[in-house]
Amino acid sequence: MSKKDSAVLNPRTTTYEFLGPPGALLITIGVPVTTYALYFGCSEQSGGCPPTLVPERISLALSDPAWWKGLWDTQAALMYLGWYAFCLVAWLVLPGDLVAGTTLRTGGKKLYKINAFSTFLLALGLTSGVIYRFGPQSFTFFHDKFVGFITASIIMAVVQGVACYAASFRPGALLALGGNTGNPIYDFYIGRELNPFSWGSFDLKTFNELRPGLILWFLIDISMLCEQATRRGGFSQVTDSLWLTLLFQGLYVSDALYNESGIFTQMDITTDGFGFMLSVGDLAWVPFAYCLQARYLVFNPVELGPVWTVVVLICNFTGYYIFRVANAEKNDFRNGKNPKNLQFMTTESGSKLLTSGWWGRSRHPNYFGDLLMAFAWSLPTGFNTPITYFYVTYFAVLLIHRQRRDDEACEKKYGKDWKKYMQLVPYRIIPYVY
Ligand code: NDP
Repeated sequence: MSKKDSAVLNPRTTTYEFLGPPGALLITIGVPVTTYALYFGCSEQSGGCPPTLVPERISLALSDPAWWKGLWDTQAALMYLGWYAFCLVAWLVLPGDLVAGTTLRTGGKKLYKINAFSTFLLALGLTSGVIYRFGPQSFTFFHDKFVGFITASIIMAVVQGVACYAASFRPGALLALGGNTGNPIYDFYIGRELNPFSWGSFDLKTFNELRPGLILWFLIDISMLCEQATRRGGFSQVTDSLWLTLLFQGLYVSDALYNESGIFTQMDITTDGFGFMLSVGDLAWVPFAYCLQARYLVFNPVELGPVWTVVVLICNFTGYYIFRVANAEKNDFRNGKNPKNLQFMTTESGSKLLTSGWWGRSRHPNYFGDLLMAFAWSLPTGFNTPITYFYVTYFAVLLIHRQRRDDEACEKKYGKDWKKYMQLVPYRIIPYVY
């Protein structure tokens, strides 16, 4: 790409999101701190969920060098590296179709190797083999070394964030339209280059989005189940609440991995660069914050009984149905298929927008389904602490913010056609409510 082409393809970003550099700095520091805080604020080791005398404990801990040293665990760091390497090797050796993503600004398309689900199956097969052969106590290391694993994943996220930011300055790099402000704090956070470390069918961004973090989340859940089984005397003694949590989160992870090519039309892949926001989100936040309910249930076993079990199942599967059908309707449509003959409007840009089916009920029906599921994952923990409802609360904030970001992006893309669509479909996320 010549200098002139590069200036045309990579215009300077003139608007900020996330409240600009101060917001970006706050989240850059806040996400790792909150990942630790969720552990120390809700764990057996720190004395409960939440522990008593929180301010006193925090000041005592922070002034104690031994506490700081306790964040590092060499064994956990090596195991984490091994896990990351496993994901890379699995990507390389497991067969998979090559699927093209959406058209890039250069006019070309990236090819992606689809084998995230088989990587998941391989990881599950090996895990089951270990547990079957050596018993549940052989797979409790994620539970036992939780803090060490958090630290390892955060270091990996920082290393990737810095490497991607540095690499984005090489000539020829295709930058993200929102990541070229020239402010290093902001660009490092939001992601300067669209697809850094992208060779052939490998792409670091999609690799991180689906493999080392998402699969790890479910392995950590299994580790929590093994810890409870070890404590209670076998898998038959594990509580219904923990089984449900595992079932729901396992289904969610499997769904994302099985429908791997579905992410190619998502904002993270089509529009956002790969920076610290995505690397820390994928590698540290998803596996170590999202497993909170399973981790809580290890030291606060809850027996739901049949009635609550049915209520929670209905909540989860209603959410799953809406999430899956809405995402399938849009993916089919964006791939040129319309099996349900849904109505649509054609915009001046030539692109079409669905106006019936789930996308006629709200502008983000998939977020609604996702939120219902998030609620169903917290319900099995009962009502003794608000902390296990952190996930659904945080997720609601994230999705409301994301919906606004997407609406703004669509307004830029579709102009007055988007306004027309908003009149046809006035609800943002929850039909007839919001
Ligand atoms: P969406 O999959 O909702 O995609 C938004 C895009 O869809 C828009 O930019 C637009 O792009 C297109 N679109 C909007 N309206 C229509 C319409 N009426 N007809 C056809 N296309 C339309 O966005 P996300 O990437 O935010 O979410 C994907 C999934 O990931 C969701 O299910 C979400 O819940 C989930 N998610 C999960 C997270 C987690 O941490 N668990 C975090 C974030 C998301 P265009 O017109 O250019 O095609």
